[in-house]
Amino acid sequence: MNITPVPSSSHEEIYCVEDTATGLHGYIAVHSTLMGPAAGGLRMRPYANAEDALTDVKRLSEGMTYKNAAAGLPLGGGKAVIIGDPSHDKTPELLQAFGEGINSLKGRYYTAEDMGMSPTDMAQLAKVTPCVAGLPTGDYASGDPSPITARGIFNAIRTTQKHHCGSAELEGITVAVQGLGNVGWHLCDLLNMAGASLIITDTDAKRVAKAVTVFGAQAVEPDQIYTVEADIFAPCAIGGILNATTIPLLKVAIVAGGANNQLATPQDATALHDRGILYAPDFVANGGGIINVATEILEISDRTAFVDEKLAALDLTLQAILRQAKAENTSPDAVAIATVQAKMARPAA
Ligand code: NAD
Repeated sequence: MNITPVPSSSHEEIYCVEDTATGLHGYIAVHSTLMGPAAGGLRMRPYANAEDALTDVKRLSEGMTYKNAAAGLPLGGGKAVIIGDPSHDKTPELLQAFGEGINSLKGRYYTAEDMGMSPTDMAQLAKVTPCVAGLPTGDYASGDPSPITARGIFNAIRTTQKHHCGSAELEGITVAVQGLGNVGWHLCDLLNMAGASLIITDTDAKRVAKAVTVFGAQAVEPDQIYTVEADIFAPCAIGGILNATTIPLLKVAIVAGGANNQLATPQDATALHDRGILYAPDFVANGGGIINVATEILEISDRTAFVDEKLAALDLTLQAILRQAKAENTSPDAVAIATVQAKMARPAA
């Protein structure tokens, strides 16, 4: 395994991690350790090239700095990516080689699951580094974070709906969900139980068929999800899907979902605001997962109490952000970023 620094003016540290024997090529980005050791998940995707992977890890790790600060966690922002198709290229040896790369940062970065990773994969990393959470078993093991991520998004949907129309009731509301993976599926389950109607899409036809059967959802093709008439759009797949092409197409009042980096550019938050679409900032809406992961990193013995308390506080933070954005006639994203930057300016508070 070779780990080499990648020069950066925006991040504290970035490394390229390679291993010829296992075909590993990935990156670790530590955006900020101001609030504590950097924490954020490991993503495996068949990126088109190294530049795409590097761009993704830089954006995602910066998002983790904001997400962890918004959630009130004593953790900084970091993220890791591996270039490859998780269904073909992921081997125990490759994961362990990447784990050695994480270990060489000596506790400055903690990883966990993100897209393309599972608790079992985290157990492979744990064979070579203690800087891994989201494990299936062991002391403080927190397992798959996605059910708690979905709980946080569900709260954010209710809060945003209440801010928009005075009631958090979801019975009879239509939600368009993009992505039926770990997070999207759990979210659909919660929305279905709350009486919402679902319009769903995924690039995986089997997941779509299952959601139609289980939730009585209406399925649409992946590129149609931006044009459906619904009350709420919940992106739960990839980033960059709120952009100059898609925002003009949306026929929803609210965007609130779990995907990281939903906005292609910061200007897209303004574009949503100008269209009168209320946006729940992704790094606030999807903080549930890292809250759950944090119980393992911070060795919290009463996970349930910690998660409940932090999720409730995150919901209050979102309420305050939405109120301030309304008062200032600006986008909630701009207020959310200012809110976390203020928290980071006084880290001991
Ligand atoms: P996942 O890999 O389990 O699921 C992603 C789903 O999206 C898959 O079913 C995939 O087929 C589908 N998909 C991919 N491209 C698509 C497209 N263009 N259109 C429609 N569907 C598409 O990942 P996940 O863990 O559910 O995470 C989903 C998103 O939420 C990611 O952006 C992730 O970073 C973010 N997130 C996840 C967690 C967590 O706890 N897992 C926490 C915070 C944020």
